[in-house]
Amino acid sequence: MSKLIIFLVTIFFMISCSQNLKQETLITVKGKIPVEEMGISLIHEHILVDFIGADSTGYHRWEKSKVIERALPFLMEAKRKGVNTFFECTPAYLGRDPLLLKELSEKTGINIVTNTGYYGVRDNKYIPKHAFDETSEDIAKVWIEEFNNGIEGSGVFPGFIKIAVERKDTLSPMHVKIVKAAAITHKATGLTIVSHTGTDGPAFTQLEILKIEGVSPEAFVWTHAQDGTFEGYMKAAKQGAWISLDNFNKNNFDKPGGIDWFVELLTKLKKENMLHKILISHDAGWYDPGQENGGNYRSYNDIFEYLIPTLKKHGFSQEDIDLLLIKNPQRAYAVNIKKMK
Ligand SMILES: [Zn+2]
Repeated sequence: MSKLIIFLVTIFFMISCSQNLKQETLITVKGKIPVEEMGISLIHEHILVDFIGADSTGYHRWEKSKVIERALPFLMEAKRKGVNTFFECTPAYLGRDPLLLKELSEKTGINIVTNTGYYGVRDNKYIPKHAFDETSEDIAKVWIEEFNNGIEGSGVFPGFIKIAVERKDTLSPMHVKIVKAAAITHKATGLTIVSHTGTDGPAFTQLEILKIEGVSPEAFVWTHAQDGTFEGYMKAAKQGAWISLDNFNKNNFDKPGGIDWFVELLTKLKKENMLHKILISHDAGWYDPGQENGGNYRSYNDIFEYLIPTLKKHGFSQEDIDLLLIKNPQRAYAVNIKKMK
């Protein structure tokens, strides 16, 4: 009998050890968590965005306590809707504030995820000066350093790479450099590449660069894909890329991002068995230090109050909803090096 118990205990330990080895993690502002703990996740939102430009922004531009006072009720409301993980997509030089996010995570109990990377849109206004003369390798070194040692001595680590490119089929040399830097960083860290992209052209241009660099499309999130085409989504998703429809807003009605548009598109994607590559979010928030009292702050509620009930009326199961809001974010953002096979 005792031999049998020892045998069973040994088997149990072997199984649990092998599961630990395989356990996939997400890096939040408070540290690593197993992806199974993510729960309902909003993958593209903002708490703070400062549009003044890389040459003038900095922590002097806002008072943390004021931003917290403004953002906290919106985050608590999201928590009451069931949100457990929140991806803050503001990159460095555009208002990223790791300690602010950590404090908000501690106050709300929500897992918040921040990022490393540079934002190239608007004529490189948000690219730091040093990056203009540097190579992709130099830029990647800065991002990998943040992954290894934390952001600016804050003890907060990035959980994904956030970049942005212009909506052009041919990318500028600066933007090619940024995409290559993201590829190098991904291969060194396993962080997912989230790229503000929009239309089909730059999405496929970036996927080609990543492939040349040996990075699988599985590591790429086509951000703001709502401005792309259905054919583009199917083609990119079949390659493995993630399609991020991240502008749900009840006030858009039948326009892209509105309820009719979303329901029609998601129904079409469900029919094509493609829901497993789709991510949804609001791209809402945020405190803007350039505006009085941070300006208009849009809530993170519309998906829960409008989209989900409507999808259910249109034949979506709880399993479909969980795929969009729980399972897909786990698979898209688990830290994992995804190389071309
Ligand atoms: Zn955004």
